[in-house]
Amino acid sequence: MVGLPLSAGKFAVAEVMSCDWCDWSDAPEDAPPCYLSVTFEPSGRYSAHMVRIGLTGGIGSGKSTVAGLLAARGAVVIDADRIAREVVEPGTPGLAAVIEAFGDGVLAADGALDRPALAGIVFADPEARARLDGIVHPLVRERAVELAAAAAADAVLVNDVPLLVETGQAGSYDLVLVVEADLDVRLARLVERGMTEDDARARIAAQATDEQRRAVADVVLDNSGTLERLEEQVDRFWTERVEPARS
Ligand code: ADP
Repeated sequence: MVGLPLSAGKFAVAEVMSCDWCDWSDAPEDAPPCYLSVTFEPSGRYSAHMVRIGLTGGIGSGKSTVAGLLAARGAVVIDADRIAREVVEPGTPGLAAVIEAFGDGVLAADGALDRPALAGIVFADPEARARLDGIVHPLVRERAVELAAAAAADAVLVNDVPLLVETGQAGSYDLVLVVEADLDVRLARLVERGMTEDDARARIAAQATDEQRRAVADVVLDNSGTLERLEEQVDRFWTERVEPARS
């Protein structure tokens, strides 16, 4: 739990949940359910005008795309998966700590982290995984807290939480925004992104169902169509739900 100084006299409490490298395409299919997220506990000390949105959706539904559209409208997006990658980029203390713990074998020829090599170690050995989490989680927490603390008191904070439903976090947000797309559309997009169809199916099957996500949603966006249609829905969400919540 970490205190967040949001502005003079106001603060929130944040917790970074566990990271399981869930976005890694090299995670084996039988890897346990995983999540990485930052939750904000309702403390009653927020500015009345800050809006906290939990954004979720199954893999390939377009969640990251929606996060980008919300950011373009001024939201502060906290994407813990992305932060987890940033904190081990070349030249970071995070990468140095990972090399110290796991050796040069986890470095690719270009000096970046060799994710498949590291995944091979940590997915085979829970202790190694705990060691890796022990390095990465505090760095993610620190960065996420920095980002939230830098947000204005009337900011729209969007937490991009892949497994929001699976990890029971719906209650942490003012609004839960769910992105959906038809199964065949999701599969096609994931294959286009370089995943095998079998892997994509296995990942989808390991996540919550559309019904489970809908059950906690305040708003559902349908992203089975074009990007233009998605943008229209994001515009409507912003005008009808976000702006009124800020004023
Ligand atoms: P998620 O974060 O839910 O896994 P992404 O936002 O990364 O999904 O979207 C998956 C892929 O589909 C990305 O390559 C993205 O560019 C593409 N995509 C998302 N929405 C659309 C859309 N409406 N039309 C076409 N491609 C889309």
